[in-house]
Formats: sequence, structure tokens, C-alpha cells
Amino acid sequence: MRITVVGSGYVGLVAGACLADLGHEVVVVDNDERKVAALNAGEVPIHEKFLPELLSRHRGQRLKFSGNLPEAVRQSMAVFVAVGTPPTESGDADLSYVESVAREIASAVVDYNVIIEKSTVPVYTSEWVRKIILRNGADPAAFDVVSNPEFLREGTAVTDFLYPDRIVIGCDNDRSAEVMRNIYEPLINGSYSRRRDAIPQPDGTATPARLIRTSTKSAEIIKHASNAFLAMKISFINAVACVCESVGANVNEIREGVGADSRIGSRFLNPGIGYGGSCFPKDVLAFHAVARECGYDFRLLEEVTRINDEQQWRFLRKVREALWTLRGKRLGVLGLAFKGGTDDIRESPALSIVQSLVNEGCHVTAYDPAAMARVQEVTGSTVQFVDSPSEAAKGSDALLILTDWEEFSGLDLDRLRDELRYPIVIDGRNLYKPEVMAEHGLTYYSVGRATVQAADSSAEAVTNQVDAA
Ligand code: NAD
Repeated sequence: MRITVVGSGYVGLVAGACLADLGHEVVVVDNDERKVAALNAGEVPIHEKFLPELLSRHRGQRLKFSGNLPEAVRQSMAVFVAVGTPPTESGDADLSYVESVAREIASAVVDYNVIIEKSTVPVYTSEWVRKIILRNGADPAAFDVVSNPEFLREGTAVTDFLYPDRIVIGCDNDRSAEVMRNIYEPLINGSYSRRRDAIPQPDGTATPARLIRTSTKSAEIIKHASNAFLAMKISFINAVACVCESVGANVNEIREGVGADSRIGSRFLNPGIGYGGSCFPKDVLAFHAVARECGYDFRLLEEVTRINDEQQWRFLRKVREALWTLRGKRLGVLGLAFKGGTDDIRESPALSIVQSLVNEGCHVTAYDPAAMARVQEVTGSTVQFVDSPSEAAKGSDALLILTDWEEFSGLDLDRLRDELRYPIVIDGRNLYKPEVMAEHGLTYYSVGRATVQAADSSAEAVTNQVDAA
């Protein structure tokens, strides 16, 4: 099928590359000329596993990049809209990018097009998109608007797209549902995973993908409700971690015991410095805002956000507890991206903590495998960037772990202890076992677990007195 994807960001580019891999003819359109030029020149603008392979496999053949939206739409049957929907000051989603795409599409809708909301949008958006396209002169019989929310996670976006738990299509008629079914056919019938050149299927994923057809409104709510629920799980375990710190219990044990219940599950029950990224914070706010507009005060979501915000503050308190005063302290930082596996720093709690520490007068030396260039654009010279965890640790008063990159969980601990000025690690991601850190002579602070002192100074585990107070 000929397909246009509008927006070449984290979702649009991955969707475009994956749809080309499913066998479709895809044009990815962006109004950022520099992005289009870079993509046409062979650059891979985001850090995402398997994306370079897919781009080099299809670029210039089944996958093209363009700045001309009407032309792309005229040549396509399906048009995925994957532009940003950032939060406004009041928390609701800013839909002006979606609206401007709808206006532009209107003139090009001639034969029959399915306009597909891929962006995360509040309920009723599909009705508005339809109205805008009609207002701008399109024939009502020439198009349908459907909702097809995207559930990919940055870092595993390609395999999430190709091996999804479910594909939700919100279609209010059979004609548009048939088009959606055709687009995803190789995933729904399992033929994609059997191809010899398929991107490898991750362990634990099921094929074929389950197709769930709903109304457009339900599909819109499914996306908001899913993200709000996952954010709530994270805030829940973070709140439990606070209780653990107060009583000297170990949140990892709680997580194992609670998560073993198949009704609950252990995923998204990792305590830390809070969720971030371009989705959870804004989607929780947007769902709250849309519920309020519809007459329901969804106060649970306010609490989810409050607990999340507090996690950063609690982490900073641990840094103070470990180092007393902050002005002039040298801190090594591992991780700046909002989570491991991506270079995305939007709403990154790691970056926000680094900025607070810089504001308090700390000298921060940071390392991140993928996000440093993006952070440098924000922080300029206020943060020093280095090329390895070891350089970040060297001569620092403490090492802070702020992002759960896999490479940070396998550090050479003896070397780390020797490189640090003081053997102190403050881990916002619980990547290590406290007793192992103590055995290696490190004083170790983590989330929801007792702080341990380096074995050679004072071997006794102590509870976090500040948190208990
Ligand atoms: P992004 O900011 O990375 O990309 C958006 C792209 O759209 C940009 O390249 C921008 O230049 C382009 N754009 C904006 N207006 C345009 C226009 N009028 N014409 C053509 N291009 C235009 O955003 P993203 O992270 O890819 O997210 C896109 C949507 O998908 C959001 O609604 C987001 O909530 C949702 N989503 C994101 C993720 C994720 O992990 N990032 C996951 C699921 C859903």
C-alpha cells in the first residue's frame, strides 16, 4: 500500500521504516527541512536499535523522505499523522500541529484516504480532524479518520512496532477498518516474523499480533488510559519505596513479592527517580485535563504526578545526606537520557537533577552513551562531558547513577572505588545490590533500600535517617 507518514520524529520515523519493512511504499513527510535533508543524505537522526538497518535497507526504494505533504497525500491511500502533541501551560495537549496537518491534507484528499491518528491525542480529536478537513473543502465520502495509537517504547521502538502486544484500530466503519487490517496484515497473520530477513523477535513477545478493533473514541482513550496506568504503577512503587526507606525494608523484595502476583506483574514496578520522557508526564496531565473537561475530576492522576515530582527532590536530599553541603562538590554523573537505550532527554529526570546540582554550585562531570550531544545544547559549558564512566568517576566526591543504561550495571567496582575521591555511589536506578557495593568498599545509597556503608569503614547497614525523620 502507498502510505504517507507525517512527522519524522521518534514515532514517525520508526513507523515509516517498519511499514516499509512490512512491504509498503512509504513517504515520510516533515516540515523541518533540515530533518528531511539529513534523512535524504543518509543520516540516522535518533538513537534507536535496528533503525539504522531498516533505513539503509529501504531508503530511496520503498522509503522516501519529503517536505511536500499534499503531493505525498495525493499518492497515498493511508496517511499516518505522527506529529508532536506537547502539553500547554494548563496541561492539556497542544493539538495545533495536528490541526495544521489536517488543514494541509484537506486539499489533497480526492479519491479515498484513511487519515490515521498515530500521535497521542485526547478523546474527540478524530471528530475535530474530520471537521477541519471538511471545513477546508474535502468531500465527506473521500476520507475516513481512524485512531491507531502507538505503544512503542523508545530504546526498543522497532521491535515494539514489529512485535506488538496488540494493535488497536479505532474505526467507525468497515471500509477504513479493512484498510487498517491490510496495513498490518503481515503482523496479524504472523508472516512477518517467519521471514528470514525479519528484524529478530525479542524473547517474551507473542506472534501473531492481536488486533483489537474499537470505536475511534475508545482507541483514543485506550492510549491515554494505558500511559496513565503505567505511570501510576511507577508512582505506586515509588511511594512504597518511601515506606521501605522509613522502616528499613527492601523495596526489591517487595517488588518481587508483589509482582509475582500474575494479576499485578512486575513490569513498571521499578522504583527510581521518577518517570520522564515525552509521553508519561504529558499524557497523565492531558488525560487529567480531558477528564476534567468532560466533567470528571480524575484526582488520582494528580497524585501520580505529585509522587513522581517528589522522587527527584528525595534523590537530591540523598545527595545532601551523603555529602552535606553541595557548593563546590565534584560529582560524577552516569546517565542523562530519560531512560536507557535512547538519546531522548525530553522531561528527563536525570537532566533535571543535574541542573539542580549545577544551580547549587556543584561541578558535574557526566557521561551518557547517547544523549550527551543533546544535553550539551541545553547546558552549554555548565556540565563537563566525558567519554566513559571511569572518567566521570575520576576524582569525584561521589558518583550518581541517573539512567538505567545496561552498561552502567556492569562497572568494575574495585576500579570505581579507587577512582573516586570518596567511595560514595548514589544510585537513582537501583542497579546494584547494596551488600555487593559494601563488599567492594563503597558506601551506597539507593531507592527504597537501606543505605550501606563501605565494608572497610563501617560495615553496618544503616537506614536512611533523613527519610525516617
Ligand atoms: P517528535 O517531536 O520526535 O516528532 C514530531 C515530528 O513532527 C517532528 O519531526 C516535527 O518536525 C514534525 N512536524 C510537526 N508539525 C509538522 C507538520 N505540520 N508537518 C510535517 N511534520 C511536522 O515527536 P514523537 O516523539 O515522535 O511523538 C509524536 C507523537 O507520538 C506524540 O503525540 C507522542 O505523544 C506520540 N507517541 C510518542 C511515543 C514516544 O515514545 N516518543 C510513543 C508513543 C506515542
